[in-house]
Amino acid sequence: MKKVLIANRGEIAVRIIRACHELKLATVAIFAKEDDLSVHRFKADEAYLVGAGKRPIEAYLDMDDIIRIAKKTGADAIHPGYGFLAENEMFAAKCRQAGIVFIGPTVEQLQIFGDKIKAKEAALAAGLHTIPGSNGPVESAEAVRKFGQKHGFPIMVKAALGGGGRGMRIIQSEQEVDESFDRARSEAKQSFGDDEIYVEKYLENPKHIEVQILADQHGNVIHLFERDCSVQRRHQKVIEFAPSIVLNNARREEICNAAVRLMKSVNYQNAGTVEFLVTNDNYYFIEVNPRVQVEHTVTEMITNIDIVQSQILIAAGEDLHKDLMIPDQSEIFFHGCAIQCRITTEDPENNFMPDTGKIETYRSPGGYGVRLDGGNAYTGSVITPYFDSLLVKACVSSRNFKGAVMKMNRVLNEFIIRGVKTNIPFMQNVLNHPVFRAGKAHTTFIDSTPELFI
Ligand code: ADP
Repeated sequence: MKKVLIANRGEIAVRIIRACHELKLATVAIFAKEDDLSVHRFKADEAYLVGAGKRPIEAYLDMDDIIRIAKKTGADAIHPGYGFLAENEMFAAKCRQAGIVFIGPTVEQLQIFGDKIKAKEAALAAGLHTIPGSNGPVESAEAVRKFGQKHGFPIMVKAALGGGGRGMRIIQSEQEVDESFDRARSEAKQSFGDDEIYVEKYLENPKHIEVQILADQHGNVIHLFERDCSVQRRHQKVIEFAPSIVLNNARREEICNAAVRLMKSVNYQNAGTVEFLVTNDNYYFIEVNPRVQVEHTVTEMITNIDIVQSQILIAAGEDLHKDLMIPDQSEIFFHGCAIQCRITTEDPENNFMPDTGKIETYRSPGGYGVRLDGGNAYTGSVITPYFDSLLVKACVSSRNFKGAVMKMNRVLNEFIIRGVKTNIPFMQNVLNHPVFRAGKAHTTFIDSTPELFI
């Protein structure tokens, strides 16, 4: 492997370009017309307009044009990042047909994990606990009602192909079933192109704990411990940290081993994350994300293992232990605690509406234990309305959770960003809230704590 095309934009494109350059690989960026001043195109060795004439997001989804650019430039691999085409099995297949390495799992693995019903079946087959549910699609409101009567409300209907915190609906009582069923189906169809939905018990106040996996093409599968991503707004992650501060070592080992068992059972390759909801007395598989995740950073900070570099080397056929020199599981350790805040150009005073415009002033924090992964975060940058509102990921590491929270507070205070609104004031409210500080935030913490929004 000599040259990698990065089929993405913003911070993750920059992150991947950096990993490539450290590995002495040449890089090719693609950019939509609206992104012609985007940082990622200037960080790469070469950059090409993609999807000419298409709308901004569609440009990055133009599979044939991306493969054309890869061929034209002699790129032998494509890294899809997260979002866009990262979990698109058709794109992975097209890469394979074109003789280009897709830096990610196989087409077959994307097929399993792209569908939450199939993923749940695979988890059950590997002996993992799953949330009591329909174990297959539900075809009628009547079936949903029966499930609720049997298992008790609240329950949740979810789109089989859902993602990004969308396509989920809580049903509190029998009266809500008919309307919620119809809505969930039509939303699933509209957002994901398929109206298949399933139902499961709604867990009240769980923690979202996920396990980072690395797996090579030679059957070696390891985990890099867990992340706690319970701090969510409307089922979307806002603050993530590693390791969890509620798991004891026995429970940690059990959950991480379950994740490895599942990934081994499907001969998984490359980086992936197995997600669980954890209650006081049990833990339940929810889904697998077969790609690098936004929050991979915190795992890197506590293990010192570069996940993006690992993805690239694994895709090139290298052996986790022999070539990447990652030790056996029993010798992989984590140190301290790392926290990430997703700083977005969203206005917390205006219901988190994305803000746009020119950044008049941008001064970033720094110092010991601080890591910033940004795309277009600089003075003079123009934030457009076309793409995701993630501006910069602020990460810190310290000896323990308390130290990391104190450091993150300092980091957020040190930012000066003028010209566009950001969610920093909101993040500060979360960080200073006693529930978060005590490590007790559950998945519903933000949505059920109105004082955070003041
Ligand atoms: P997505 O693929 O859209 O991210 P997930 O299945 O990963 O969806 O779920 C995202 C979040 O939704 C979880 O972290 C959790 O907060 C909530 N959630 C999902 N399923 C349940 C459930 N059965 N009970 C309670 N909360 C749930």
